[in-house]
Amino acid sequence: MKLDVLQALRNPGTEYAFSVEQTIAPQDVGGSEVVFDPVTLSGKLTAAEDGSVTVEGKLTTVAHAQCANCLAPAASSVEGDFRETFIHGGDPEDDESFAYEGSVLELEKLTLSYAMLNLPMRFLCKEDCEGLMQYAGADVKTTLCQDELNVQRPFAALQQLLAEKSANENN
Ligand SMILES: [Zn+2]
Repeated sequence: MKLDVLQALRNPGTEYAFSVEQTIAPQDVGGSEVVFDPVTLSGKLTAAEDGSVTVEGKLTTVAHAQCANCLAPAASSVEGDFRETFIHGGDPEDDESFAYEGSVLELEKLTLSYAMLNLPMRFLCKEDCEGLMQYAGADVKTTLCQDELNVQRPFAALQQLLAEKSANENN
């Protein structure tokens, strides 16, 4: 998403409200993929006499990843405040600042850094997810057939072996 700041540049010191949507690419976070809904950025921007433009406001989106406990799909809302200054003709390779050319701000880099900054520590499918052990719960047993249980309980085969072994020892 490009943000046109021509009006602001013509009127330094005047605040302009903005609200834009920015899409960002899926990111690899510690080996698992995080996918983002379109990110909404809203706030205000102000140009300075030297042509730098300060944008500040709030970023909101929803991030999707695997539950850290049970690997089911999980989503988390992501919210954060941002405030950055774009330098006219600045170095676009500089990681410490934002640059722009002409009268248009490119918001992808800013959006990506603030979305990553505000990711949850871990994704959970629900607040009290107990992980794979939840499938051993009694009510799940009654609703799933044995095959499904074996798929979802990787140690089921091992448990069966142990049970057979102890049964043999008792003979
Ligand atoms: Zn879970």
